[in-house]
Amino acid sequence: MSKKQEYDATDRALGMDRPITRRDFLNGIAVSATAAASGPLFATTATAASPAAPQSPGAVQDGYGYYPPLLTGMRGSHPGSFEDAHALRDGRTWPEATDTGEEYDLIVVGGGISGLAAAHFYRTHAPNSRVLILDNHDDFGGHAKRNEFNLDGHLNLMNGGTLEIDSPRPYGPVAAGLLKTLGLDVPALAKSTQDLKFYDRLGLRTGAFFDRETFGADKLVVGFGADQQGIDHVAGLDALLLQAPLSERARKIIVQIETAHIDYMPGVSSDEKKQRLSRMSYEAFLRDVVKADPAVLKFYHARTMGEWGVGTDAVSALDCWAFDLPGFQGMKIAKGSIARMGFTPSGYEDTGGSYKLHFPDGNATIARLLVRDLIPRAVPGHGVADGVTARVDYAQLDRPDAHVRLRLNSIVIRARHREGAQPANQVEVTYLRGGRPYTARGRGAVMACYNMMIPYLCPELPQAQKDALHELVKTPLVYTSVALRNWEAFHRLQLHRVYAPGSYHTYLHLNQHVNIGGYKSTGSPHEPILVHMVRTPCQPGLSEHDQNRAGRTELLTTSFETFERNIRDQLNRTLKEGGFDPARDITAITVNRWPHGYAPEYNPLFDPDLPESERPHVVGRAQFGRITIANSDAGGGAYTDSAIDQGHRAVMELLRTDAA
Ligand SMILES: Cc1cc2nc3c(=O)[nH]c(=O)nc-3n(C[C@H](O)[C@H](O)[C@H](O)COP(=O)(O)OP(=O)(O)OC[C@H]3O[C@@H](n4cnc5c(N)ncnc54)[C@H](O)[C@@H]3O)c2cc1C
Repeated sequence: MSKKQEYDATDRALGMDRPITRRDFLNGIAVSATAAASGPLFATTATAASPAAPQSPGAVQDGYGYYPPLLTGMRGSHPGSFEDAHALRDGRTWPEATDTGEEYDLIVVGGGISGLAAAHFYRTHAPNSRVLILDNHDDFGGHAKRNEFNLDGHLNLMNGGTLEIDSPRPYGPVAAGLLKTLGLDVPALAKSTQDLKFYDRLGLRTGAFFDRETFGADKLVVGFGADQQGIDHVAGLDALLLQAPLSERARKIIVQIETAHIDYMPGVSSDEKKQRLSRMSYEAFLRDVVKADPAVLKFYHARTMGEWGVGTDAVSALDCWAFDLPGFQGMKIAKGSIARMGFTPSGYEDTGGSYKLHFPDGNATIARLLVRDLIPRAVPGHGVADGVTARVDYAQLDRPDAHVRLRLNSIVIRARHREGAQPANQVEVTYLRGGRPYTARGRGAVMACYNMMIPYLCPELPQAQKDALHELVKTPLVYTSVALRNWEAFHRLQLHRVYAPGSYHTYLHLNQHVNIGGYKSTGSPHEPILVHMVRTPCQPGLSEHDQNRAGRTELLTTSFETFERNIRDQLNRTLKEGGFDPARDITAITVNRWPHGYAPEYNPLFDPDLPESERPHVVGRAQFGRITIANSDAGGGAYTDSAIDQGHRAVMELLRTDAA
C-alpha cells in the first residue's frame, strides 16, 4: 500500500496526502520534475508523502542548480549532516585519508558566523593568506540559516535559525566593528526596513490557544496572549479570560500575576530578594510564592521556552524578573544584576541591551555579507539590500584559485598537530566528504564548530579541557517555516501571533513585515505568506542539560511526517474558526531542527557558582598550540556578537603565536 493510501480520513482532512513539499523551485521550475536529473541533493528533498532519505554528504556544491536555501522538508541539521559525527563519538574509525595536498595559512572548522568572522579577521591581518573553511551542512551560516520560498512568483524569506541582531549587552567594538565593515548601519536599517506596527495597524493582535489535551477544551482567545517579550496587556483582561477554559480561581490568579502590584516578600531587601529568586525556578515562584494553581502553571510553562529553550521549571525566577515576565511588578527589586544571574536579555542592565535588527532571513544576511567579503564572486552585488536578494553562486565557494575556499558537506573528524620535526608548525585536518576521508594542512586551525564535539576531533587535548568541553551541552529547538496560500484566516480572526503553551509548537506568528531593497513583504491577506513556528523539546523535572539531551534525542528520532501532521493539526485547530483549511491552505513546510541549538549559558539553578575563569566555556576554549577554539559556545552566550567575538579571540591567539 502506498503512503498516500495509508492515510486515514483525519490525515486526509489535514492534507497529509497533499504533495506540498514537492513544490521546491529551482529557477522557477518545480524541482520534482528535475530531481532525477539533478543528482543526490535534490533527489533527497523531503516530500509530504515520504520523509527525507539520508542525504549524501558528498552532494556537489558546484553542481547545476545547487541552491540549498530553497530546499524544504527537514532542514537545520538536515539528514546527512550529522550521522558521521555521531559515529565518530561512538568509536567508528575510517580508512586512511586521501591527502588533498592542499596547504593553507588557516583552516576554519565550521562555517557559521563565528567561523566566517574568524576567516574575515585573519584575512584582515594577513591579506594574502589562504583560508579553507569546512562545514558539515549543505549551506553556510550555521544557525544563521536562510529559508527561501517562491510563492506565486514572489521571493518570500524566513530565518531558519538566528532571528535577529539582538543581545543582552550592546555589541562590543569587535562585533559592532565587523557589522560596520560589512556595511550595516543597524539603527538606520532598523528604522528604514522594519514595520513593527504593520499588523497592529490592520487591527491584528496576539492570542492564546488553549488546547484540549492540556486545558480540557480547544479555545483561541484573541486579544490576550503573550509573545516571548511579554503579555499583550489589554484593558479588560478578566473579561477576555472568561472565554478561556479555566476555572474562576485560575483566571483571578492570572489577572493578579499580570496586573497586580504585590510585594510577595515584604520586609526583605532588594538584594536578598534577588538571592532568593535566583535559587527558585519561575514555576516555583508562581506555585509557592504567588500560590498559583496547576492550570495557571501550565499556562505560564512555555513563557520561557523561546528565550531559554526550556520551560519555567528550569529558569530562575530572577532571570524571569530580569526578562520582564509578570508577577514581579510590585516587588520593588532594584535594577542591576548579581553574580547568580544568567546571561539574561534586558531588564537589569542600564544599557538596555544591544540594538535590534531583523533581516527577512534573520542573520543569514550577515552570513551572506561575510561570504561576499571573503569570496566576492560568490555573492553578487555590493550593498546590504542586494545581499538579501542575491542568488548566491555556490559553484564559486570552493575554487582552487581563490584566497578563501568554503567547502560544504564536509565534516571534520580530526584536527592534530602534524608529527615530524616541528610538530607545532602545522595542523592536519581530516574531513569526510561523500563518505570518504581527506586531509588538508594549515599553519593553524580555528575550531568554530560545536565545542562539545572538539574532544572527539582533538583527543590530545588535556583531560580537564576535554571534560569542560563535554559540559557544553547546547539547547535543542525547532524553527518551522510554513507557507500559506494566504492569511485570510488570520485576518478574519484579527490575529497575527499566538502563544500556545500546550501545543506542539508553543509560538507561531505571521512573517515579520520587512521591506529592504527589492524585497517586499506581503501587504494583503489575500497573498501568500510564511508562518514562523517554534518548538522547544524538553522534559520537565530534569536538570536543564538533561532536558537538553532528552530534547536532542527527540529531535533526531522524530520523522518529518510526524512534524507535518502536528503542524497541520495545530494550525487547523488554532485557525479553523477563521475558515482555515490545512489541506487547501498549506503549500510548503520547512522544519529547521537544531539538536545542537543555543550555546549553553550559566544557569544559577543547576550550575556551580564558579569564578569566570573556571567556567566550562572558559576552560574549554584554551589555546592548544596552533589549534584555537571559537564558536558562541566559547563565549558562554547564545548570541551572534558572542560568535563574532570568539572568532576574533581565536584568530588573535593564532596570530600572536605566529608573531612569537
Ligand atoms: C534557532 C536559533 C535561533 C537563534 N536566534 C538568535 C538571535 O535571534 N540572535 C542571536 O544573536 N543569536 C541567536 N541564536 C544563537 C546563534 O547560535 C548565534 O547567534 C550564532 O549564529 C552562532 O554562530 P556560531 O558560528 O558560533 O555557531 P553555529 O552557527 O552553530 O556554526 C557552527 C558550524 O560548525 C559546524 N560544525 C560543527 N561540527 C563540525 C565539524 N566537525 N566539521 C565541520 N563543521 C562542523 C556546524 O554544523 C555549524 O554549521 C540562535 C540560535 C538558534 C539555534
